[in-house]
Amino acid sequence: MRLTRYAAAAAAFGVVLAGCSSEAGQQAAQESENAPEVVEDVDFEAGTTMADLAEAGTITIGTKYDQPGFGLLNPSGVPEGFDVEIGKIIAAQLGIEEDQIEFVETVSANRESFIQNGQVDLVVATYTINDARKQLVDFAGPYYVAGQDIMVAAGNPEGIEGPDDLAGKNVCSVEGSTPAQNIRDNYPEATLTLFDVYSKCADALTNGQVDAVTTDNVILTGLVAGNPDGFELVGNPFTEEPYGIGLTLGDTEFRDFVNDVLEQSFEDGSWAAAWDSTAGQITGEPAPEPPTIDRY
Ligand code: GLU
Repeated sequence: MRLTRYAAAAAAFGVVLAGCSSEAGQQAAQESENAPEVVEDVDFEAGTTMADLAEAGTITIGTKYDQPGFGLLNPSGVPEGFDVEIGKIIAAQLGIEEDQIEFVETVSANRESFIQNGQVDLVVATYTINDARKQLVDFAGPYYVAGQDIMVAAGNPEGIEGPDDLAGKNVCSVEGSTPAQNIRDNYPEATLTLFDVYSKCADALTNGQVDAVTTDNVILTGLVAGNPDGFELVGNPFTEEPYGIGLTLGDTEFRDFVNDVLEQSFEDGSWAAAWDSTAGQITGEPAPEPPTIDRY
C-alpha cells in the first residue's frame, strides 16, 4: 500500500518534470550550485542542542513523504521538496553534511509526539504554527504562509467554490491537521472523511468516495500537478497557515538559532533558491516575499 502510494506520488512528480524535460539537465546543475554550504568550524556553547548535534555530526528531521513539492520520497527513496531543502539549510549551519541528515516520515497527527519523544530533532513538514500546538512544541518561523483550499474532480461536477459549498458533501482531509479541525469547527454540515496522509484523500477523490479534498493550497497544487486531468484546485484560500519548524518545547536557544538561520536564508537567497528548485517547479511561481519571523 505504502509503496503504491509513493510510486503514485513519484509518478505524479515525474509528470510535472516531464513537462520541462529540456531544462532538466540545467535544473540539476542549478540545484547542486545552490546546495547550502556546510559550515566547517562551527562553535556552539557547550550543553546546547546545537553543540550536541554538531558534535554528533548528524540530525534527525521529520518531514512528509507524499507531498510533491514540499516533502516527497522520490523513486530512489530520497526525500525531496521545499521542506527537505529547508532542513538541509539548517543542518548546514550546524556543520552537518546532507548525507548525515536522517529524514523520517512524520504524518500530520504524530508531529508533536515525535518531537516530545525525541524521535526527531526537528519537524519540517507543512506544519502550521498555532496556539494549541504551541502548548506541546516550540516553533521557529514562519518560513512560508499557505492557505487552506479545496481540490475537486476536474470540471468541478459538484460546483464547489468555497467551504460553504461543502455542506452536504463528503470532504476528505487528514487526522491531526488544521484543515480537518477547521471543517469540524466551522463547517459542521460537511461530512468529513479522514485518512493519515493526503495521497489517500487523492485516491478517494479519484474513486468517487469523496466529493472534495481540503488542506493547504500548496499541498493540493502538488496533487493536481500529478493528475491534471483528474483534479482541479478551487483556488479560493480561506485560512492562513504559517509554516513553522517544530522543536522541543522550551529549547529557546535552539529555536533562536533556527530563527537566525531562517532569517539569514531569506537574505542570502538560499531560501528563494530552495523554493525555485522544488515547490516553484510545481506552482510555476517564483519565490514569494519571505514572511517575517515571529520570535514569540
Ligand atoms: N498545515 C496544516 C497542518 O499543519 C495542514 C498540512 C498538514 O497536515 O501537514 O495541519
